Amino acid sequence: MKRINHWIDGSAVEGTSGRTGVVWNPALGEQQASVDLATADEVGRAVAAARAALPAWRATGLSRRAEVMFRLRDLIDANKKELASLVSAEHGKVPSDALGEIARGLENVEFACGIPNLLKGGYSEQAASGVDVYNIRQPLGVVAGITPFNFPAMVPMWMFANALACGNTFVLKPSEKDPSASMFLADLLAQAGLPAGCFNVVHGDKVAVDALLEHPDVAAVSFVGSTPIARYIYETGTKAGKRVQALGGAKNHMLVLPDADLDMAADAAVSAAYGSAGERCMAISVVLAMEPVADELVAKITERIAGIKVGPGSDPSNEMGPLITGEHRDKVAGYVQGAAGEGATVVVDGTTDVPSEGFFLNPSLLDHVAPGMAAYDDEIFGPVLAVTRVGSYEEGLGLINDNPFGNGTAIFTRDGGAARRFQFEVEVGMVGVNVPIPVPVSYYSFGGWGASLFGDQHMYGPEGVSFYTRSKVVTSRWPDPATSTIDLGFPENR
Ligand code: NAD
Repeated sequence: MKRINHWIDGSAVEGTSGRTGVVWNPALGEQQASVDLATADEVGRAVAAARAALPAWRATGLSRRAEVMFRLRDLIDANKKELASLVSAEHGKVPSDALGEIARGLENVEFACGIPNLLKGGYSEQAASGVDVYNIRQPLGVVAGITPFNFPAMVPMWMFANALACGNTFVLKPSEKDPSASMFLADLLAQAGLPAGCFNVVHGDKVAVDALLEHPDVAAVSFVGSTPIARYIYETGTKAGKRVQALGGAKNHMLVLPDADLDMAADAAVSAAYGSAGERCMAISVVLAMEPVADELVAKITERIAGIKVGPGSDPSNEMGPLITGEHRDKVAGYVQGAAGEGATVVVDGTTDVPSEGFFLNPSLLDHVAPGMAAYDDEIFGPVLAVTRVGSYEEGLGLINDNPFGNGTAIFTRDGGAARRFQFEVEVGMVGVNVPIPVPVSYYSFGGWGASLFGDQHMYGPEGVSFYTRSKVVTSRWPDPATSTIDLGFPENR
């Protein structure tokens, strides 16, 4: 059985804890590998390697750091099929979806190639007589990333590309459910010329995470995962004096106004709800269908669901793969099975006729779902789309703004004024206008509001650069012997 090791100081290192995690093949429902789960000491070794590599890396010229990112970009692009097949084998997503994840992750490496331009400071000449003031942005030191199972390649790239380009060194704790992509990326970073110790991977569970949160040499933590863990990471990390950005779960609503192109809205809802088997933090999980078009919209969605091909990624014609584990599949199925008892209408029951092997579900559609029902209140993270009928724009907006999550949302309409009003009034971090999955491009930043983000700064893009650097302001005077005097007063800027 394949064993997945840590990556410390430039090479794979076998774990010593004696504890391992199961890596499933979700399409077959069989174990395909085991992954070492780190002890606090092993985490300490990774942090020590990152700390030892820090002085030389932060002193490396900006264009040389950018050069590593340029080479990494080309290496990832050249190896994307192999990386996608690793992701597909462990996560279960179909290869086209895995390739999409890599393409979106790669955008962040491309953004980091421009790092010399992004780290420019300001300069004020003659702030006082003979005095110049300027600010510089410097790396934080050793930074850690803790990532979820659902984007095992893209989310690490959201973090390490900016962090490394800014001059930090990095310790990644990827999801133990699909850990191979991070090892593949570690190898590509080494091939790109990143010195040993600058990027390390420790696999593990709460033990490894807690060791990172408590380690005095870890300056900052970036986290992406579920809301309860995000809250824990933020509270524990900030209490230990670290800078933390912790992105949590979601419940994304798509408001469909009666004037919308209903075919386009149905296509978008189906793509955004069932892509990656609904295991996306930007998946649409609730369609707010405004009367009088709700019946027509539900009919169009139902029609489209019948055409979705569910099956293993090994068959390229399949559009939706399995869920990550059998346990998660059963939990998701429970929401569908319990929906009718709570008053919802099960329009399509995806828990029946599923393939006999693997962790599969078919797409489910629930109608007449309302707040207070589990299928509305909880993040299901599976191929289950809920429809909630609303009588007005205001009612739809109210539901979105009352929801504790605020990750993504979308409005479907032909009315520019309504869309403009929605963009102004909605309390959500990422908004789509006739775009169901509004993941920002890499030169903006990614982050939700409310229970979808703990911390002040969004991930990647300009806020990522800001997160991974701190500002220093220098006030300087060069001695001019002709004007030198003794003055014990407080220096004034006049
Ligand atoms: P998760 O919270 O279970 O795990 C995320 C990470 O935290 C993993 O590395 C895991 O090992 C670690 N972890 C798990 N339990 C822990 C504990 N008790 N103490 C310390 N660390 C722990 O999330 P997941 O199931 O891997 O991913 C799915 C979740 O991630 C969903 O809620 C989804 O919405 C969210 N997500 C959010 C975004 C976003 O950008 N907001 C993006 C992707 C996924």
